[in-house]
Amino acid sequence: KPVILWFRKDLRLDDNQALTAAHRSGRPIIPLYISEPEAAGTGPLGAAQAWWLHHSLEALDRSLRKRHGRLVLACGEALEVLCAFIRESGAEAVFWNRRYDPSGTSIDIRIKHELEKQAIEARSFGGQLLHEPSRLMTGNGTPYRVYTPFWRALEGDGEPEPPLEAPAKLRLTSQLPKSEMLESWKLLPTKPDWAGDFTDLWTPGEDGAHEKLRAFVEDALDGYKENRDYPARPATSMLSPHLALGEISPARMWDATRGLSQRVPAADIVHFRKEIAWREFSYHLLFHFPRLASANWNDRFDGFEWRNDSGDFEAWCRGMTGYPIVDAGMRQLWRHGWMHNRVRMIVASFLIKDLMIDWRRGEAWFRDTLVDADPANNAASWQWVAGSGADASPFFRIFNPVLQGEKFDPDGDYVRTYVPELRELGAKYIHRPFEAPKGMLDEAGITLGQTYPKPIVDHANARNRALAAYNATRDAA
Ligand code: FAD
Repeated sequence: KPVILWFRKDLRLDDNQALTAAHRSGRPIIPLYISEPEAAGTGPLGAAQAWWLHHSLEALDRSLRKRHGRLVLACGEALEVLCAFIRESGAEAVFWNRRYDPSGTSIDIRIKHELEKQAIEARSFGGQLLHEPSRLMTGNGTPYRVYTPFWRALEGDGEPEPPLEAPAKLRLTSQLPKSEMLESWKLLPTKPDWAGDFTDLWTPGEDGAHEKLRAFVEDALDGYKENRDYPARPATSMLSPHLALGEISPARMWDATRGLSQRVPAADIVHFRKEIAWREFSYHLLFHFPRLASANWNDRFDGFEWRNDSGDFEAWCRGMTGYPIVDAGMRQLWRHGWMHNRVRMIVASFLIKDLMIDWRRGEAWFRDTLVDADPANNAASWQWVAGSGADASPFFRIFNPVLQGEKFDPDGDYVRTYVPELRELGAKYIHRPFEAPKGMLDEAGITLGQTYPKPIVDHANARNRALAAYNATRDAA
């Protein structure tokens, strides 16, 4: 009797605990992916991630075909789909890897319960994280709210389990149920095809993930701690979209940094692991405090008087604020579905503080446009910048977009890549074209207000306005 292997955010064969368990059970496997309706509570799938998902499912199908199987696709409420497949195939078991977002968790608990009532073996496994979100708790048995002690606990817990190798051969059922056509799910953009440039950077699927990991460990891990803050340097792993759909496991990434101490400074290895731990921490928070996804963690922010000006929001989304580092980041996001972490912090601070637009609008825009959109990292990071989060940066720490640009993109290379209108402007004014002498702008072919926007706010005034609003909220609390 077959076992249904239900793929979700674990679109890989490598280090896949549910797959390994299904394989070891000796039963023939039915590999299944279900497109769950938004109404089931799994949240809307952003357009950029939908593009990724399409290619990722194709890649998974290719890997399975190499093992004489294929991926079966179905659409609908997960429980109904599973029950239909169980009836049709005579399967006696369903295996899956756990997900940890609030709606996913509650759907899975209900499904497990229902399947067990029907005497179907329903087994779930870890692997999306290094540790289950309840494994590391404070001395009082409560969840962590602050990152540093969480990291210390993670580090003190010893090395994570080594990753599992993908089984060389899989026993897949010869009579697979009928699959839906991936094309009919319409995950790809059509007119216009705004994802045209995505393939410059990305190869969805686990082979692409392993290649990114290999290249990062060989070329960029040495120096990561210093270089990771400079968006023009190819210094980070760019594994986040692969992680978001589970094409690679964090345990595989951690494992790739073992045994390198002869070649790579320990500080770089530890720093990379600390970033993986930030992701763990975001999931720890979301799992224990599900309201983090959409409500201010610190309810003092509930009374904050957002301006929410729609013209400003549109200028931010389109990368037309007149602040080059902000515009470069927002255009990188649009062009490649990804943005460098330092720049994410700068654009988020600008939206929330300079423009006084509710962080949830920024979070939603990121969710729709990022290929790595992740329910835990996105919400936790937006709340971190807003100052409303658990272990957050204080609200009054407001990034100056000019100084941030000058510090982290000193030659302006990042800006020139994504804001071609400014390409001819020298480094001195690249982050503040509005202060450049007219002659210099003319020479660079720039007319402010025409070829490139004037700043939509004056940063110094906007900063004071934001602080006044914040103080008013504090006084009212
Ligand atoms: P690397 O530097 O190579 O780090 C390796 C991995 O560690 C990353 O893939 C990621 O999983 C994790 N990581 C790194 N930095 C962070 C961080 N600051 N917080 C949590 N985990 C981290 N990350 C997402 O995966 N999805 C999101 O939707 C998301 N939204 C964000 C929104 C804002 C406003 C900000 C400031 C950050 C957001 N991040 C998000 C975190 C971070 O920017 C990305 O994880 C990182 O840029 C991914 O690039 P990388 O894979 O090259 O990172």
